[in-house]
Amino acid sequence: MVYIFICVDFDRDYAFPIVGLKHAISKPIQLKSSKEQSLNPIESISIKGTVNCFNPFMTYLSDKELQTTFYFEARSAKLFSEKYPKEMKMFKKSSFEFGVHGYDHEDFTGEETRVRFEQDEERNIIASAKREIENLFSTDIAGFRAPYMRITSNTLQILSALNFTHDSSYYKEAERAIYPFRTKEGLVEFPVIKTPKESSMKGMYTYLWPFFEKKRTLEEIIGNYIHLLKNTEDKNSYISINLHLWHFAYNIEHNRFLLQEEIAENIHSFKRLITSLEKCENVTFSTPSEWLKENSIV
Ligand SMILES: [Zn+2]
Repeated sequence: MVYIFICVDFDRDYAFPIVGLKHAISKPIQLKSSKEQSLNPIESISIKGTVNCFNPFMTYLSDKELQTTFYFEARSAKLFSEKYPKEMKMFKKSSFEFGVHGYDHEDFTGEETRVRFEQDEERNIIASAKREIENLFSTDIAGFRAPYMRITSNTLQILSALNFTHDSSYYKEAERAIYPFRTKEGLVEFPVIKTPKESSMKGMYTYLWPFFEKKRTLEEIIGNYIHLLKNTEDKNSYISINLHLWHFAYNIEHNRFLLQEEIAENIHSFKRLITSLEKCENVTFSTPSEWLKENSIV
C-alpha cells in the first residue's frame, strides 16, 4: 500500500517576502500598495484567490471524503473565518487534518527578507499561530509546515517544546514513495519529494506550482506521479501532492486573478489527477497523522 497525502497550504494570495519585513505580503497587494500599507501586517493580506476557488474545491474534497491536510497561515485563517463564516464550516470534516504554516508567513531564516528572528520570537510566533488555529477549529494541532519550506536551527526544537509531533518542511530527492524519519528533537519528519534532475521525471517538486503556472502539462504531472508509484516497492511508504489553495485562482507570471471558467478548468485538472491516481493499485489517500496511527517509524 502506498499512502497519498493531499497537502494544501492555506496562505494569503501568493505570500511574498519583502526585504526588511517580518510578515509576508500578498503579491497582488504588494504590486499596487503604498509603503505604509506594506508595513502593516493586517493590510498586507489578500485572500481573494482562496475565496474565489474555495467552494468548488472544498465541495469536491468533501463529497469524495478525500483525506486532506491543510497547513494554515494563522492570520489568513482568522481573516477568512471572520469574513466567511459559512465557508469556514466546510472545514468541519473528519477527513480533514490541520497544521500550522506560520502566523504571517514568516521567512524564519531571513534568507529573502534579511530579517533574523531570535529564538524566543520564533517560538512566540509559532505558539500564537498554533493557539489561533486550535481555537478556530476547536482541535489540537500536531503538524507544521514552515513558510517557504525553510526552518532555522531552532525550529524543530521549538516545535517539539510546543507539543507538535510532526513536521513537513524538508525536500528529499527520490524517484519513489518514501518514509518519514525521526529527528533528534523527537519529531517525525515527512519530507516532500523532489525528483532528481537527471531522472526521467526531470527535476520535479511534488508541488503543483509548475502546473498552475503552465510550465508543465497536466499529462506530465499525472505521468510523473504514476511513475513515482510504479517505482515503489516499499510497503506503507508515502507520496504527497502539494499545492496552494489560491493557485487555482491566481497566476503569478501574469499577476492576475483568473476568470471563473479558468478556475473551473484548474479544478477539473486536479480532479483528473486524483482520478488517475485512484485507478492505480494499492494506493490510499491519507494524512500524516493517519499514517502515524497505522505505522511505526523504521
Ligand atoms: Zn506558504
